[in-house]
Amino acid sequence: MSETKFTCCICGKEVAEYGNDPWPIKEDGRCCNYCNWTVVLKERNRLSELNRKKNNG
Ligand SMILES: [Zn+2]
Repeated sequence: MSETKFTCCICGKEVAEYGNDPWPIKEDGRCCNYCNWTVVLKERNRLSELNRKKNNG
């Protein structure tokens, strides 16, 4: 596999990376590694925390 250039759907920068699934920030497109770590994964953690709290009452 080779890296391809794409435009990050979160920060709008053109990057040469594999790209990451931007859900739940965006439903389409790909995001760069930076946004994946700083935005997407944080949001996923936040959502799973919310779910955990919900399930625990
Ligand atoms: Zn980005």
